[in-house]
Amino acid sequence: MITNFDKKPILWISVLFSIIIFFTGCGTVGNQSSSSSSQDSQTAQVGQPRAEVKKTVVELVPGTPYTSKAYIYESVIEGPTVMVVGGIHGNEPAGSLAASKFMEIPVLRGKLIVIPRANNVALDANERTLPEIEDLNRAYPGKSDGTPAERLTYDIVQLMKKYQVAMVLDLHEGYAFNAVDSKSVGETILPGTDDTSALLAMDAVEHINKQITEAKKKFSVLANPIVGSTVHYANTVLKVPAFTVETSSDQPLEDRVNFSFEIAKFLVSSQGVIDK
Ligand SMILES: [Zn+2]
Repeated sequence: MITNFDKKPILWISVLFSIIIFFTGCGTVGNQSSSSSSQDSQTAQVGQPRAEVKKTVVELVPGTPYTSKAYIYESVIEGPTVMVVGGIHGNEPAGSLAASKFMEIPVLRGKLIVIPRANNVALDANERTLPEIEDLNRAYPGKSDGTPAERLTYDIVQLMKKYQVAMVLDLHEGYAFNAVDSKSVGETILPGTDDTSALLAMDAVEHINKQITEAKKKFSVLANPIVGSTVHYANTVLKVPAFTVETSSDQPLEDRVNFSFEIAKFLVSSQGVIDK
């Protein structure tokens, strides 16, 4: 028979056990994933609400030459999860740099997953991708035992599922301005095929174009994300709003990073995860 006195240690042991389960449950992509993780915590920056934010670093395809990191910022205040991906193509540095700027932004609620250098090795080589890796933006949903591109996208997909993303952004660059060369997707947003994605993309274009005076540099919305891409997978399989943001590399890097970041910030803040 258990007396009230005896129940207290049992209660504390069960609380402790629950905490251990909670923390060991975070930061791994899933049972079938090869990724690994580490954690620490931080508080929001000065001037923002001081809500605690837990940071978890997850290695995608660890122990390989093409490993890459995902950074997960989790507010104590509940809310949706938004994923921002950059560096899918290694010769599009603005998308990678714009994504990395989200690592400095306080998360107000929910979770922000940042993958700033998805194709890490290709970024170092300033190549779209390497032959042995293949194109990440044609490799979704990926495979746990596939090509490097398939293994990377597989681990990204596991993160999308584990954290039940509510929105996905993928930041890229085109070679020209779409307004003067319709063959290039530079200075466009390619939303998913749902109404929410389309409407938010139009709002984001209106927002960014207020900051752009030169007509050829103004953004527009294009349709139909590419099969096998980050956005196509998130939008058609997971059924969440998703956007490919494309700046034009025919302008200074600083402008491309700023345009990409401003558009992405507008979209992420629409979910209340960060401030406007
Ligand atoms: Zn690209």
